[in-house]
Amino acid sequence: MPSFSAESFTRLSSCHPDLQVLFFEIIKTFDCMVLEGHRNEHDQDLAFKEGRSKLQWPHGKHNGQPSMAVDVTPCPIDFSNTNRLYWFAGYVMGIAQKLKEEGKMTHSVRYGGDWSRDFTDLNEQFKDLNHYELV
Ligand SMILES: [Zn+2]
Repeated sequence: MPSFSAESFTRLSSCHPDLQVLFFEIIKTFDCMVLEGHRNEHDQDLAFKEGRSKLQWPHGKHNGQPSMAVDVTPCPIDFSNTNRLYWFAGYVMGIAQKLKEEGKMTHSVRYGGDWSRDFTDLNEQFKDLNHYELV
């Protein structure tokens, strides 16, 4: 059974309990790495400048404490393999819905490849394929 590295664990610990419940469930069956949880002012401004985020501090979902967003990618890491990122996302979103229906999570999850939550990426201009946030 896969498990989180110490780095992933620490990053996930900065996130809302719902995100922790979700990704501790995911890691049981799908190896993945937590790239970022809470993002401080410096890191948020950097993400904005580099075009990785559309929001400036403190308006990003990563900026709260706990963080309402987390960036997670499947292992082995290959950001160019977008098919695999979407595959992972579909798995995450299905598990998230199940956990919410079971009362184990209080929030719904929005994926950075489908901001409008209409199950297609075709109408999305800005895609953040490792991003999951609570709504
Ligand atoms: Zn993110």
